[in-house]
Amino acid sequence: MSNDCLFCKIAQGLLSTEFLVETDQLVAFRDLNPVAPTHILVIPKKHIASLADLELEDRALMGEMMVAIRRLAEQLGLDEGFRVVVNTGPAAGQSVHHLHFHLLGGRSLQWPPG
Ligand code: AMP
Repeated sequence: MSNDCLFCKIAQGLLSTEFLVETDQLVAFRDLNPVAPTHILVIPKKHIASLADLELEDRALMGEMMVAIRRLAEQLGLDEGFRVVVNTGPAAGQSVHHLHFHLLGGRSLQWPPG
């Protein structure tokens, strides 16, 4: 855990955030400022600053995260489709420096993104 990291605090349950999923490796919770009817963040409990900091040793963790996202999409009824976004670095608008996957759905999503 990184002491000054918001998502580490959330993952440790220090901010009373309601979790849709919690395992020993990850948590999922609703985004504070949703940009789609369904907007969930899935984060590892381990502090990894961004996708650019990912190591091969994290591969099992990443697999678990992808399966958690697939299950969430199923449970939330995103049968028409959904999008998974990982903003990485300043040019992509990453604002929280703890790896997180945005799960977006519930409306038609445009491509390319802005
Ligand atoms: P990004 O801009 O890709 O780094 O995404 C960070 C996301 O975290 C944004 O969509 C924010 O709305 C969301 N966010 C920031 N603080 C919180 C919080 N306390 N609880 C839930 N979501 C948050």
